[in-house]
Amino acid sequence: MSVMKGPIPKPGILGIDPYVPGKSGPKTGKVFKLSSNESPLGASPKAIAAYEQAVAQNLSLYPDPGATKLREAIAKRYGLNAANIVCGGTGSDELLQMLAHAYLGLGDEAIYSQFGFLVYPIAIATNGAKAVIAPERNYHTDVDAILARVSPYTKIVFLANPNNPTGTYISAAEVKRLHVGLPASVLLVLDAAYAEYVLANDYDAGIALVEANTNVVMTRTFSKIFGLAGVRIGWAYCPPGVADVLNRIRGPFNVSTAAIAAGTAAMEDVTFIEQAVVHNSKWLSWLTDKIRNLGLEVTPSVGNFILIHFSDAEKAAAADVYLVSQGLILRRVEAYGLPRCLRLSVGTEEANHAVVKALSEFMK
Ligand SMILES: *Cc1c(COP(=O)(O)O)cnc(C)c1O
Repeated sequence: MSVMKGPIPKPGILGIDPYVPGKSGPKTGKVFKLSSNESPLGASPKAIAAYEQAVAQNLSLYPDPGATKLREAIAKRYGLNAANIVCGGTGSDELLQMLAHAYLGLGDEAIYSQFGFLVYPIAIATNGAKAVIAPERNYHTDVDAILARVSPYTKIVFLANPNNPTGTYISAAEVKRLHVGLPASVLLVLDAAYAEYVLANDYDAGIALVEANTNVVMTRTFSKIFGLAGVRIGWAYCPPGVADVLNRIRGPFNVSTAAIAAGTAAMEDVTFIEQAVVHNSKWLSWLTDKIRNLGLEVTPSVGNFILIHFSDAEKAAAADVYLVSQGLILRRVEAYGLPRCLRLSVGTEEANHAVVKALSEFMK
């Protein structure tokens, strides 16, 4: 039966390849899910308690439409103006979609880099706009390549910094150079989903750039280091004009009561996040070294995941099959144009050892 018999969606929608999430793997036996960059330390016990308490209270009441407590906790932690924070109730994905929805239409263009996060093309095409892809240099965002592709139709530049799935970042100076090169009418969206993990001195998530300009937005998430991927909360730090736009188009109760409670407690549990940073930096370099020692190329990462390069796509596919047979679920990234790679999230100590053991068996 033809799908064209029924209502026809807007131009661009049927050209979208649905986002393919990381596999969860078999439900039997010991399985380590290392395919979605979730936190190996889970959520803060304080966030879990706050969530449970919220559920135990009155679920029949609508949440605070402004997610005030959550925005205030974020503002306090990072020294921000809470009025310029907008929260997303289905993660930062919702904010990326809202930004595209507000600023892109038919005939417009949005730029992202070659191995950029695959939510961007979906958000762009959903609004009938054209995705313009800037090639990368050695798996790094190439600022000049982005600037060379700006046209009178460009409305948004999406930059994941650090990027997923490559794990690489560009310096604060490079981000600034990108911004300086953009017309004031182009919105620069800095997707800093992994910012809390980055220890490089020349990195900056973009708060100062947001505050100094009318055309820069930074998006962040509770799904990664905060360990709340299942709760779906993100936040955007915006110039007042952009916050006003997002507050006009967002669902009035887009962040649930339980999400507000859990997110607030997670944001306040500074010690827990510090432990997650320490765990990650230790195991990120351990995994990188051990896997390189097996003769595999690993792209240097500042996030909580690494990109492993095999000799060809068949070898990557075979490695994936072998790892799955050992209960290790990594992420194939062909959809990103990286068919000979697998992406591995940093796991628990036990998971990390299991991955290295299985990879070394595979490489024999
Ligand atoms: C994981 C991730 C996000 C966060 O998604 P949520 O919708 O907040 O869970 C955003 N951007 C990038 C690049 C990511 O990898």
